[in-house]
Amino acid sequence: SPQIVWLRRDLRMADQPALHAAAQAGPVIPVFVLDQDRASDHAYGGASLVWLHYSLESLGRSFGSRRWKIVLRKGDAPQILASIADEVGASCIHAMRHYEPWWKEAEDELRDALGEDRKLCLYDGNYLLPPGSVTTGSGDPYKIYTPFSKAMLEVMPPRDVLGEPETISSPETWPESDELSDWDLLPTKPDWAGGIRDFWEFGEAAAHDRLDWWTDEVADYDEGRNLPSKDITSRLSPHLHWGEISPAQVWHKLKDKRNDGWKTYAKEIIWRDYAQNVIDQFPDYPRESYRDYDERTLWRNPNAGHLIEEDLKCWQRGMTGYPIVDAGMRQLWQTGWMHNRVRMICASFLVKHLLIDWRFGEQWYWDCLVDADYGNNGVNWQWISGTGVDSNMFSRIMAPLTQSEKFDAADYIREYVPELEGLSDDNIHDPPDDKRGDYPVKMIGHKEARERALEAYRASKS
Ligand code: FAD
Repeated sequence: SPQIVWLRRDLRMADQPALHAAAQAGPVIPVFVLDQDRASDHAYGGASLVWLHYSLESLGRSFGSRRWKIVLRKGDAPQILASIADEVGASCIHAMRHYEPWWKEAEDELRDALGEDRKLCLYDGNYLLPPGSVTTGSGDPYKIYTPFSKAMLEVMPPRDVLGEPETISSPETWPESDELSDWDLLPTKPDWAGGIRDFWEFGEAAAHDRLDWWTDEVADYDEGRNLPSKDITSRLSPHLHWGEISPAQVWHKLKDKRNDGWKTYAKEIIWRDYAQNVIDQFPDYPRESYRDYDERTLWRNPNAGHLIEEDLKCWQRGMTGYPIVDAGMRQLWQTGWMHNRVRMICASFLVKHLLIDWRFGEQWYWDCLVDADYGNNGVNWQWISGTGVDSNMFSRIMAPLTQSEKFDAADYIREYVPELEGLSDDNIHDPPDDKRGDYPVKMIGHKEARERALEAYRASKS
């Protein structure tokens, strides 16, 4: 009987265990349901929808070349899938496993809706290992990254990768499908996605091209990854997030490179698994601070009359007067991505220099990043804020100007803050007042911000 493959963030043909199993069991009907209500504050943001459009288009083309297609529907995923299963008489819905709480709920609802006769079959493969696979001596899942990472390295490499299914047969009749273009995932008035299109190639083939390129570059990662002007990182994050490539494919391609670059890179990829382990244990982690500060005194609070709105806007628009922060925020807005070192500096600036609750920042990144990921974004925001399960205390404050010099961000600033293009390397990190031209003055001095943050921290602990 026909088999349904429920596609979510697993938009690839190769190393896709759900697709593989379905293809062996019968004619396959791949279905993607756009279910925007389910995730509430974490419904796909604007940049994610752009990526989703191009990724679905690309996968649709690959399927099309095998005379095969994706059924697109909009609405409540469990109901829609159950009704398609009834309509075509499918015995099983195959899907890759995802750990966002709304997907776990949807899986439960789908099982109920399918009843006794039809099954939901879930497969691992979007992470190196399923959350909870490595455990502490007492058998608990890890909460802290470093021991987690050590334990993961001991059991790596991951499972062998699968190729594309050799044969896939089509059903006799296809259920109805929406047209992708009718979903209006791309912005039109104005079309702000031009920068995203220029910066990226979308889809599975592009992900593998990027990985091929990265295989030659990874040797420089250990030294280069912190230098935003050089930009020696893989930029695989959106491809991994949308499942256009699997982490096992990345691992196996690089594992024979025994250089320091690969050793460091392996630990970064493990961060991605770590974040899933955290949200698997604490499903609301990207919404609630883990550590017990008095947050009414820690953050500047609009309910207590603090006017944070203007400050938040300056940060979002890259108009803080700190060139490294503004370059990062503008890179994010233009391209849907930001260099990791700069993501940290910008996030720290929001929560410590401006004392704005990390959740405002998490939501802005969520809307603007093409790799916006419930686990990675939430875990990193709480890590920077000092509110997380594994993070320094809030009182550790990054100095953006020192970071900018240390990591040699001059050319990066020139690229994204054209007002400062003509400044010398000496002046560009912290331009003197008479050289700023139209560029804004600092919203707040570093020393003043640091003292204010430490004061708020002390108050939140007393
Ligand atoms: P590389 O340096 O080439 O790393 C390889 C891969 O490892 C990445 O593609 C990513 O999948 C994973 N990885 C690397 N660093 C981390 C990390 N710190 N945490 C989790 N996974 C990591 N990453 C996201 O994928 N989605 C997010 O929403 C996201 N939000 C972030 C928010 C903040 C405040 C910070 C500080 C970091 C965030 N990151 C997020 C992590 C990291 O910045 C990006 O994964 C990285 O910049 C992506 O670029 P790359 O692919 O070139 O990374």
